Amino acid sequence: MLEIDGLSVRYGPVRAVEDLSLTVAADAAVAVLGPNGAGKTSTLRAVSGLVPHRGSVRLDGAVLPGRSPRRIARAGVVHVPEGRRVFGSLSVEENLRVATVAGRGREARFTIADVYDLLPALASMRGRGAWALSGGEQQMLAIGRALVASPAVLLLDEPSLGLAPSVADRIYDTFRRLKGAVGLLIVEQVASRVLGIADTVVVMREGRPVGSGPAAEFADPVRLARLMIGVGEEDERAADV
Ligand code: ATP
Repeated sequence: MLEIDGLSVRYGPVRAVEDLSLTVAADAAVAVLGPNGAGKTSTLRAVSGLVPHRGSVRLDGAVLPGRSPRRIARAGVVHVPEGRRVFGSLSVEENLRVATVAGRGREARFTIADVYDLLPALASMRGRGAWALSGGEQQMLAIGRALVASPAVLLLDEPSLGLAPSVADRIYDTFRRLKGAVGLLIVEQVASRVLGIADTVVVMREGRPVGSGPAAEFADPVRLARLMIGVGEEDERAADV
C-alpha cells in the first residue's frame, strides 16, 4: 500500500502541491484529476523522488528514501512519465531487457513474456526499433518497461494524452487487467476512461485537493468539471436555477 501524507511541493515561490494525502491500496486504482497546472505531475515526481517535497510517502509502512528515484523504483514504486520515455535506438525487446529486474537479485513480478501476453502488439514488433513506433505503441512499451521493473505501485502520468481514442481504450484495457496485481495511481486531465477503473478519485486544483471519494461520486461530468475549474457550490446552485 502506498500512503501519501501531507505532501507539498514548491518550486521557489510556486506552490505546486499543498497538503495532499491519499492512499493507494495494493489492489486498487486511484485517479488524480485536475486541469493544467493543478499539481498532478509534481505529485508523481515527488513520490518518485524527482523533486523535493514535504510530507511523507510510505510503501507498505516503510518511508521511501527521499530524493533517490532509483531506490524508490527498486522499492516498487515505478513511474511512467508523460511523454513515454523509451530508448529510440533500441528495439522493443531490448528496451524491455534493459528495464527488467530478472537476474538482478530481485523478484520479477512480470517477465517479458508476461508483458507480451498483456500487450500483444509489442510481441509482434519485438525486433522493431523503438524510434519507429507510433505514440500509442511507445506508450505500451513504456508501460511494459515499467512492468518488468517489478512494480508494487505504478504511477501513470496522463497515459492517454495525445492518443487516438481506440488506442487509449486499449491502454485502459491493459490497466483493467493489471488491476488487482499492482496498485495504480493514474493522473489524467480527461476523466471519462479513468473513472471506469478507479476505485477512488482525488480532484486537484491549484495544487490543492478540492474533492476526494469513491469514483461513483464523480460520475456527473458537469459537477466534476465545475469542481476542476473552481465553480463554487453557491455558483453551482445559481447556475442550476
Ligand atoms: P499539466 O497537466 O499541465 O502537466 P499538472 O497538474 O501536472 O499540469 P504540474 O506540472 O505539477 O501540474 O504544475 C503545477 C504548478 O507548478 C504549475 O503552476 C506549474 O507552472 C508549476 N511548475 C511545474 N514544474 C515547475 C518547475 N520545474 N519550475 C517552476 N514551476 C513549475
